[in-house]
Amino acid sequence: MRTDSFALRHIGTTEKDLPHMLKTIGVDSLDQLIYETVPDNIVLKKEMDLPSALSEHEFLSHIYQLSLKNKVNRSYIGLGYHEAITPAVIQRNILENPGWYTAYTPYQAEIAQGRLEALLNYQTMITDLTGMELANASLLDESTAAAEAMGMLFSVRSREQKKNEAVKFFVSEEILPQTLSLLKTRAIPLGIELVVGNHQAFDFSAEFFGAILQYPGKYGQLFDYADFAGKAKEKNIKVAVAADILSLVLLEAPGKWGADVVVGTTQRFGIPLGYGGPHAAYFATKEEYKRNIPGRIIGVTKDTDGNRALRMALQTREQHIKRDKATSNICTAQVLLAVMAGMYAVYHGPEGLKYIAKKVHQSATALTDALEKLGFYQANTAYFDTIQVKTNAAAVKLKAEVKDINFLYIDDETVGIAINEATTLKDLNDIVSVFAEAIGKDPILIESLNGGNAIIDSVARSSDFMTNEIFNRYHSETELMRYIKKLERKDLSLNHSMISLGSCTMKLNAAAEMLSLSNPQWGNIHPFAPLSQVEGYQSMLKRLEEQLNEITGFSGTSLQPNSGAQGEFAGLMVIRAYHHSRGDLERNICLVPASAHGTNPASAVMAGMKVVVTKTAENGNIDVDDLREKAEKYKDHLAALMVTYPSTHGVFESSIQEITKIIHDNGGQVYMDGANMNAQVGLTNPATIGADVCHLNLHKTFAIPHGGGGPGVGPICVAEHLVPFLPSNPVVTTGGDQAITAISAAPWGSALACLISYGYITMLGAEGLKKATIYAILNANYIKDRLEGHYEVLYKGERGRAAHEMIIDCRPFKEHGIEVVDIAKRLMDYGFHAPTVSFPVAGTMMIEPTESESLTELDRFCDAMISIRKEIAEASKEDGNNVLKNAPHTQVMLTSDTWDLPYSRQKAAFPLDFVSDNKFWPSVRRVDDAYGDRNLICTCAPIEEYMEA
Ligand SMILES: *Cc1c(COP(=O)(O)O)cnc(C)c1O
Repeated sequence: MRTDSFALRHIGTTEKDLPHMLKTIGVDSLDQLIYETVPDNIVLKKEMDLPSALSEHEFLSHIYQLSLKNKVNRSYIGLGYHEAITPAVIQRNILENPGWYTAYTPYQAEIAQGRLEALLNYQTMITDLTGMELANASLLDESTAAAEAMGMLFSVRSREQKKNEAVKFFVSEEILPQTLSLLKTRAIPLGIELVVGNHQAFDFSAEFFGAILQYPGKYGQLFDYADFAGKAKEKNIKVAVAADILSLVLLEAPGKWGADVVVGTTQRFGIPLGYGGPHAAYFATKEEYKRNIPGRIIGVTKDTDGNRALRMALQTREQHIKRDKATSNICTAQVLLAVMAGMYAVYHGPEGLKYIAKKVHQSATALTDALEKLGFYQANTAYFDTIQVKTNAAAVKLKAEVKDINFLYIDDETVGIAINEATTLKDLNDIVSVFAEAIGKDPILIESLNGGNAIIDSVARSSDFMTNEIFNRYHSETELMRYIKKLERKDLSLNHSMISLGSCTMKLNAAAEMLSLSNPQWGNIHPFAPLSQVEGYQSMLKRLEEQLNEITGFSGTSLQPNSGAQGEFAGLMVIRAYHHSRGDLERNICLVPASAHGTNPASAVMAGMKVVVTKTAENGNIDVDDLREKAEKYKDHLAALMVTYPSTHGVFESSIQEITKIIHDNGGQVYMDGANMNAQVGLTNPATIGADVCHLNLHKTFAIPHGGGGPGVGPICVAEHLVPFLPSNPVVTTGGDQAITAISAAPWGSALACLISYGYITMLGAEGLKKATIYAILNANYIKDRLEGHYEVLYKGERGRAAHEMIIDCRPFKEHGIEVVDIAKRLMDYGFHAPTVSFPVAGTMMIEPTESESLTELDRFCDAMISIRKEIAEASKEDGNNVLKNAPHTQVMLTSDTWDLPYSRQKAAFPLDFVSDNKFWPSVRRVDDAYGDRNLICTCAPIEEYMEA
């Protein structure tokens, strides 16, 4: 046996554990278990065709060699992406720290106060810099955030605007090209009509409901938009502004001059370019739109003892509740990157940011001076960091390439130069010499920054920002390191214990998969760098696409979508384009089973489809008769079925091929939600079940860490007939030959994060991947059999097996006065994060252990659940003062001088032996969601301020 095989590190249970586990489950072999789990008709007949697995050491050497094929030029391309300096203290303590990157989305607030605080800092920074009242905790990228702004403004149109069918949205021609492409993608299905033009010539007619401006413009020209905003306001046309975050340090906040929504990217706050992502976009708006904001918002509330506590606010807008009425399909966002950008602001503080912004600005003015002295004409009359130089672009390009410099070649006579935080005096002089050489002159030496100013007075910033103490005390590395650690310790992540979230696949995120993210040969590459400089990236991305094609059985993959939900939207838009290409313009019905994830109906609506819900049968499966009836009823309008497989109930339905055939027979396409791919890889695949397109959550099945709620990568894989429609990018050629417009800003989405999944697949190989699937199923069935008799397991396959996850019913405990949340909170006292609560069935828990957990850990979790079951039996409805209702228990509570609860402190905090060996203390008691929603506070104002409110 090769003991250096990565599979041995990735898969937690071992062959030694097998006899005991198989016996518990009641099967003789793994083969028998899989036979009883996966229906015969869909089992793959042959092994996947993938290169043989590399050991960790071999992979690290391979990926390093590949990185050398990327050429790291100094990039002054701009267009929304700028080289940034990641403070080493943030790189080491957050980006490279599993305490941060393996955390889940903070639904269980009591064990997530650390990242909630980091996100509150981020929101505060955004509201301050934009001058708005409210910001969310990140979106996927600037362009999708702009599209979300358009969508939100469309949905909040006045009654009169709706009546008058005001469907026009003005887009300034200064908008970034990738944003324009995305606005087109999103506008068409919603029936919004885009009008692109010069904002100075805009007529503010009543057909318009909104407008979007770029601040500063795409090539750096700075405009004073106050007049525009004023006129728009008079006509009730709402104004969105896409603003460069660093420029806002020196420019007046859009909120001060009349913006209704401000969006942008926070990439240049310390996040590597990463060939396009992941980066956190921000979204800020007015309080009056608080119920329409896409994505998640962190808010302040109090816990049972009245202490300040944080949690995700206003969850009523979550897609799971609103479904096809949801305002947006955003689920996974960019939490880890938002945490990093917020921490960058904490580290530098307002003074540090001013220093950086001024240095960037004065570098641009010094450069302009030098170039003007050489006789060049610089076209921007006012600017922050980007200038446009009129010259023979081809001549400049020739000289620039020799010096490893990338500019933006706007046209034959215009070169764009965007200065960034990392630009040094030497860099400036290199730029000057490139231009001088291009016209055969001697360069002029820039000796120091000149203190110049190219910002018009009317837009210079006069308002304060980041005055909160948080941004003014952690400026030394020691202080920041400890602050980061203090927050980290409040959060339960995978480096503490198993997080068995059903549908979320919280598996190992191996260090070897993550290491390359810190390598500047991967990190410091601009997404619009010429293809000749990104051979390493292109090779890695192409191989990953091929791997995913093989795994899904499909013919083509787009890595563009930045989350599962974006994948759903992308896939449906591809289906839409396919129907249209065949003259099928009327196909707009999307069948969605009642048990589907909330993003499914929300995505269908965004893609302009009408959702028809199909029934779930008694046993949890799709009701095939109902499905057939609806497919036939709508056969002239049927666009697609969205189906999750194995089902959201954790079962391989044997009727799946019949289901996909019914859809095809009635002219529809089958979209498979691939969130549960962890039960399929190597055993079956979407092509075999009869799907046409699927998305994969690389941040679930393929080992990208959850990051506390992002990054995500949600590629779509499609059958041959859909390949031509895969999404494009307006700057770099990608996608099919009849490509739809962009789904995300960067041509290959979050390319940097793709390294992780590439590593995962490359180190496991076909055999390891299949083994991972089998062990995921083994672990789930082991838990199922251990818990049966204590809990009722809902839904099983025909032969009594679960797939990779199972649902336990907690509704019967109502007779003891116990709700499913009480169990979730009590698990914290045992050192565990709760499984998925109340999805897909209210009052239940869905448990997914993954293959990465060891038998010992599975047993610990089962012991905790069984112990809790005994506590439930002891609880009574009449007297709610029990260990479950009072959970979680904090250290402060346990060590206080008084203790008057009807059970011991020992029972509260150390209910089983193993707990004391590795105790995790929740930092607050149970949080009060309703209080926080009634008193919405989403910035880190001092505690006194809101207590009075
Ligand atoms: C996670 C999940 C999604 C959404 O993925 P995001 O990346 O969070 O947008 C969709 N469907 C199912 C079944 C999921 O579990």
